[in-house]
Amino acid sequence: GGNAFPNNAPTRPPPNMLGMTDATNLSPVDAYLRQHEVTASGDNVPAPFMTFEATGFPPEILREIHLAGFSSPTPIQAQTWPIAMQSRDIVAIAKTGSGKTLGYLMPAFMHLRRCRNGTQNGPTVLVLAPTRELATQIQDEAVKFGRSSRVICTCLYGGAPKGPQLRDLERGVDIVVATPGRLNDILEMKKIDFRQISLLVLDEADRMLDMGFEPQIRKIVKEIPPRRQTLMYTATWPKEVKRIAGDLLVNPVQVNIGNVDELAANKAITQYVEVVPQMNKQRRLEQILRSQERGSRIIIFCATKRTCDQLSHAIGRSFGAAAIHGDKSQGERDYVLNQFRSGKSPILVATDVAARGLDIKDIRVVVNYDFPTGIEDYVHRIGRTGRAGATGLAYTFLCDQDRKYAADLVKLLEGANQQVPPEVRNMAAGGASFGNARPGMNRWDSGGSGGGAGRFDSGGSGGGAGR
Ligand code: ADP
Ligand code: MG
Repeated sequence: GGNAFPNNAPTRPPPNMLGMTDATNLSPVDAYLRQHEVTASGDNVPAPFMTFEATGFPPEILREIHLAGFSSPTPIQAQTWPIAMQSRDIVAIAKTGSGKTLGYLMPAFMHLRRCRNGTQNGPTVLVLAPTRELATQIQDEAVKFGRSSRVICTCLYGGAPKGPQLRDLERGVDIVVATPGRLNDILEMKKIDFRQISLLVLDEADRMLDMGFEPQIRKIVKEIPPRRQTLMYTATWPKEVKRIAGDLLVNPVQVNIGNVDELAANKAITQYVEVVPQMNKQRRLEQILRSQERGSRIIIFCATKRTCDQLSHAIGRSFGAAAIHGDKSQGERDYVLNQFRSGKSPILVATDVAARGLDIKDIRVVVNYDFPTGIEDYVHRIGRTGRAGATGLAYTFLCDQDRKYAADLVKLLEGANQQVPPEVRNMAAGGASFGNARPGMNRWDSGGSGGGAGRFDSGGSGGGAGR
């Protein structure tokens, strides 16, 4: 710990600040960053590799890429490759399907070329991923694109016998892709040698944390030599992920793909925001559900798995709802998704993490039953509706503990030409003046599960601590 972690201030102006500037006045690099909504914060961020030729990858790797039919790097690849190839730590925040796997595998191959020594058996690169499915997908990609570099890669995951996995390790490998649980088991058996690891990748960090892998991850990382490069990929940036990034990465460059303002400008989504105390949320939700056309597909986002279960149970009888969250098995998830897609249970109650990566179309309504941990997540959630020319509705409940997001939210609503109810505007104004809790504005005690740092962040409890 103790390393300086960059705040969110980008070193380049974010695209929206360029306002009405004539795009032709931008340098090619700035035009690229703006077009692809790339922001990077950190010291001396190198320019993105806008083409594969710019990467300096050896011809055999370029051939593999050509064979795969790819025409240019994806934005996350373009911006993270040059940074990773400077051996710097990175935290990359980009949504599913943005090409993150090759985003770290290509630098890993380059890294292996530099430091390969034929005599060692232990891996040089370790990739941690949340699930067996993901780990095997990564392995497949590593085999496919690493073939020409003669990269040896193996995959360690639970639910399969250890024997073959241990045999692969004994034969010697360059890259290990592993789920934290199984790797920890093998580590405790002293069947893996970590001394050569010099590149660590945490893929889908937010999901690993949501699945409860934090203790295993920390145990594993403690065994890896500290002189290493660490790359972290995540689709969201909640405080749990920030904390572990602060502990495991050294002076990272933060790269974001996607822009809040762009999505906010999606005027096809009508955004309703209302102040609803915790204890009234369920009743208000039921009113909203009753007012929708029958059979409309609706996603309701909750903050916790517990709320998900309780709520889907409570509204399930009248409306046909199912819950999806990180504690559900793959089989249960598949079942719930099929029920949702087929319209048998048109209401899905979900946590952010469970909903991530699900390509669910034709969603009419998004309900933010609990406000997410940040305005970016708000935008991603409501972005699930109003796609491809369809119109969508988003309902959002704000309660007192969400006060700290109110100002951002008001800005966003205004930017998208949406109505801002006076009580939301009030909350935004109140949230900006720290310290003085106004009577009637402070309902922590009715919230029950509020808890956590949030209530202190917004400073409602007096003391006038200021910022
Ligand atoms: P993520 O990890 O961000 O969800 P993946 O790494 O799984 O995304 O990539 C999504 C898909 O895009 C994969 O099928 C991958 O082969 C493909 N892909 C990766 N890089 C490129 C590229 N530069 N151009 C086109 N497709 C790509
Ligand atoms: Mg991925």
